[in-house]
Amino acid sequence: MVTFGLTAGVAYGLPSLATLRRARIRLTPRLAGIGTPDHVALTFDDGPDPASTPLFLAVLAELEVRATFFVLGSQVQRAPGLAAEMVAAGHELGVHGWDHRSMLLRGPRSTHDQLLRTRDLIAEVTGQPPRHVRPPHGILSSGVLLAARALELTPVLWSAWGRDWTADATPASVLATLAPDLRGGATVLLHDSDCTSAPGAWRSALGALPELAARCDDAGLRVGPLAEHGLFDHGLFARV
Ligand SMILES: [Zn+2]
Repeated sequence: MVTFGLTAGVAYGLPSLATLRRARIRLTPRLAGIGTPDHVALTFDDGPDPASTPLFLAVLAELEVRATFFVLGSQVQRAPGLAAEMVAAGHELGVHGWDHRSMLLRGPRSTHDQLLRTRDLIAEVTGQPPRHVRPPHGILSSGVLLAARALELTPVLWSAWGRDWTADATPASVLATLAPDLRGGATVLLHDSDCTSAPGAWRSALGALPELAARCDDAGLRVGPLAEHGLFDHGLFARV
């Protein structure tokens, strides 16, 4: 599994993303977040952000949907109360990184320190130690994999994304981009902050949420956090 992980991480940075994304799913279903067939995991990266995350929390509460937020330690440090509020609302926090710098630019010790610092801050401010890690840009360097193992964090990327980080993204474009990969077992990647993307890009993800939830409901699919996605039930964690 470690070899697969390294392949996926290197592949992510190459030009033909669509082809490689399919290859990654074929090689590493657990890494791509493929879970139980009647469940869709909803995940958000780059928060928490006081300017946008509360709006996501409000819409999710209205939809009665809980999700997993892969947060940046630097953002949690700026808004610890918001991070605690997310967990109190039933959402799950995972480790994204301390900042958004590529892990390929860090050595193993720095990578470990970044993930450790973020993990411990999340646990400190929310009372819930995180279980999952998704490094910035989905780049699974060998340092990330080693640190994840040492810190008991399961690496999870995604199987469907909405390209919601671009300046021209709209709720309709997000839904159209997600559609081909939106099925039972999928892990959906969206963003609840624009701190690393086009200003206001998160509005496209926010606007897509009600229809996304409705489509899953129509298809008989539950939507929830990775904790309820059945990744551990497959017995794949032990193979990392
Ligand atoms: Zn990110």
